Amino acid sequence: MSASRHPALSSTDPELASYVAAEEVLQAETLRLIPSENYVSAAVLEASGTVLQNKYSEGYPGRRYYEGQQNIDRVEALAVERAKGLFGVDHANVQPYSGSPANLAVYLAFAQPGDTVMGMALPMGGHLTHGWGVSATGSWFRGVQYGVRATADPETNGLIDYDAVRDLALAERPKLIFCGGTALPRTIDFAAFAEIAREAGSVLVADVAHIAGLIAGGAHPSPAEHVDVISTTTHKTLRGPRGAMLMCREEHAKAIDKAVFPGLQGGPHNQTTAGIAVALHEAAQPSFVRYAHAVVANAKALAAALLERGFDLVSGGTDNHLVLIDLTGKEVPGKVAAKALDRAGIVVNYNTVPFDPRKPFDPSGIRIGTPSLTSRGLSTEHMPLVADWISRAVDAAAKGDEQALRAIRAEVADLMAAFPAPGLPLS
Ligand SMILES: *Cc1c(COP(=O)(O)O)cnc(C)c1O
Repeated sequence: MSASRHPALSSTDPELASYVAAEEVLQAETLRLIPSENYVSAAVLEASGTVLQNKYSEGYPGRRYYEGQQNIDRVEALAVERAKGLFGVDHANVQPYSGSPANLAVYLAFAQPGDTVMGMALPMGGHLTHGWGVSATGSWFRGVQYGVRATADPETNGLIDYDAVRDLALAERPKLIFCGGTALPRTIDFAAFAEIAREAGSVLVADVAHIAGLIAGGAHPSPAEHVDVISTTTHKTLRGPRGAMLMCREEHAKAIDKAVFPGLQGGPHNQTTAGIAVALHEAAQPSFVRYAHAVVANAKALAAALLERGFDLVSGGTDNHLVLIDLTGKEVPGKVAAKALDRAGIVVNYNTVPFDPRKPFDPSGIRIGTPSLTSRGLSTEHMPLVADWISRAVDAAAKGDEQALRAIRAEVADLMAAFPAPGLPLS
């Protein structure tokens, strides 16, 4: 497979080529449920592997520190214009190497070391870079953290407690407030956060890394009119190459650009910028609106099917692409379940659940999502089957039944063969 697909690589470095070919098979045969992953299109893949790789271009279009930028300037300007159009913002910076450096640039633009910053706690569903202790953002800044409600009322249990966020913000007056996260199955109320940030005098950052594609496709409300800065990765629901973007109103454009370069980075990864431009073009098509809504419809159908099979879900369900399964009531913890599912050809990650009684490296939950399976064309009618597989695999894990896991793996590969993934060779 790889010899025809990557002929130069196969002849120069057959060992490495064999790993790539094996990864192609793995991505083709398995049901990939990690909510931060996806399949990029063949066009994005091609754009990301071009001779743009060879060019140094410190600076921004029209203001570079190296000559020979005739084509690179066009590529970056195109990506910037597409980002502005798609997300309805004044300014876009497409150079951050990934989501974490993008967030660090926001700190550099608006805060000084030691300043108080506020974000959602990691175990509650926030991201490391929102001021959590083990991250540089939590050791160079003073992170204060909010979480979700623990109530007996299923209508509010597991939801962000906006009153508590407001109380904390007014008590701490943080320089920055981050909203958004990595394990949040519910809609983020950007207007409520904006009100709180205004009262507290804080710069509000929407980190929409997970949901950028849903926003672009109109399947989640946009933060554009509510927040000071939007930070996003480009490789999750947005279905672009691994990279990130920072977007803001004109008033913050200079500060953001200066923080990314020369504040944190040198030369931008031009081949990635090209891939981002293509992904933004794809995300502006009517088919992407259908994709984004299908991702959410699939997640809701999967959540309903899991509830029917006796699983507990954080917040009782989902509004977006993500479902957080709480296995506290089951016989297997998250890590054991995740590893068994992997052997069954279903790729998930173990994850903390809010108020997790277990440790982060051995937590009580698994996190799943529908961006990848939707990219392959699976629809709501398939979600009961997916829930069945998950249920059978978790039961098999409890019993140590490896044969049952192998049987599921074969069934998964069978279905996946009927739904070829974008960007992968047809096997
Ligand atoms: C994925 C993610 C990031 C970090 O992105 P990397 O590219 O992995 O550095 C930041 N914030 C949120 C909310 C994320 O989900």
